[in-house]
Order: sequence, then C-alpha cells, then structure tokens
Amino acid sequence: TAESVRELLLSRIRDVADYPKPGVMFKDITPLLADPAAFTALTDTLAELCVRHGATKIVGLEARGFILAAPVAVRAGMGFVPVRKAGKLPGATLSQSYELEYGSAEIEIHAEDLDPADRIMVIDDVLATGGTAEASLELIRRAGARVAGVAVLMELGFLAGRARLEPRLDGAPLEAL
Ligand code: AMP
Repeated sequence: TAESVRELLLSRIRDVADYPKPGVMFKDITPLLADPAAFTALTDTLAELCVRHGATKIVGLEARGFILAAPVAVRAGMGFVPVRKAGKLPGATLSQSYELEYGSAEIEIHAEDLDPADRIMVIDDVLATGGTAEASLELIRRAGARVAGVAVLMELGFLAGRARLEPRLDGAPLEAL
C-alpha cells in the first residue's frame, strides 16, 4: 500500500478499549466508512489486489467483510458471494464449524455460487485469530473452487492468524493493508 493511503486508512480507524468485552481493543472502521476519500482509497486498493492476484470472484465474511467486499467486487468487475453465520442463507449450503475462545461458531455459503473455475479472494476487515478466515477457506475448498488469496484491512499480529492461515493458502497471498 502506498504510504499516504496507509496513513489515511490508519487515521480513520478508531481503537475502542474493552469492547465488546474487557481486554479487547476493538478496531472500529465506521470513521473510515463515513469518509468518502478513505472508503474509496480502501475499495480501490483492495480491488487492485484482487486483479493483481488473478481473482475471479470475491467472498466477503459477515458482517463487516460484506461492507468492504461488495464495493470491491463492483469496482473489480467480479461477483460477490457472502459467507454468513449459520441459518441465514435460504438455499443449499455448505457449513463449517470452528472453535472460538469459548465455544464454537458455524458459517455457511451457497456452494452453487462458486464455480470450479473460480479463483476466490476472501475479504474481511480484521484478521484476529484467523479462525473465521480459515473456516471460509475450507468452505471454498469444499465448494471445489480455488483460493486467490485473503485480503484484510488490518491484521492483529500478536494473535498469529497469519501462521494459522498459511498452511491453508497453498502459497496464495495474505494481504493486510
Ligand atoms: P478471528 O476469527 O479471530 O480472526 O476473528 C475475526 C473476526 O472477528 C473478523 O470478522 C473481525 O471482524 C472480528 N474481530 C476480531 N477481533 C477484532 C477486533 N479487535 N476489532 C474488530 N473486529 C475484530
């Protein structure tokens, strides 16, 4: 990312301490979304990455991933496919469970919206433990498509999500702006 874009994006992310629970520093992207220059710069940068890495389709992760991935898909001229929390998609779904700190979560995709010829870029706002992104890569693999990469606005390096994802990426890039 160009240094000026990086500075602009960073300046529009708000750190909220102890949200949604004590000990978590929440990365709030709503100031960035409310600033058209920053939102456009982010959209353009992510769209350029999708093109550069040979993606043909964009998967966005519920819920903030949707906000970023949808304009990127339009900008890049690619389709958008949502990965949703379990029980929200009306059609035939593939489901994938994954472990959280306490308990587990389940995400789903409409497999028919991915084609074996597709190369998928996964987009989300924050990579934390990598559990959500890892489960989404598994859904894409099970749907028979290939992964072009994972692109996030922010990576929380101390949580080691990158190390968790890398074995699942088969050499595809993990881009954190
Ligand atoms: P994980 O599966 O641990 O990588 O968590 C990733 C998901 O949780 C993403 O969809 C993020 O939107 C959200 N998330 C996790 N940690 C944070 C944080 N500190 N600030 C904002 N969102 C977060």
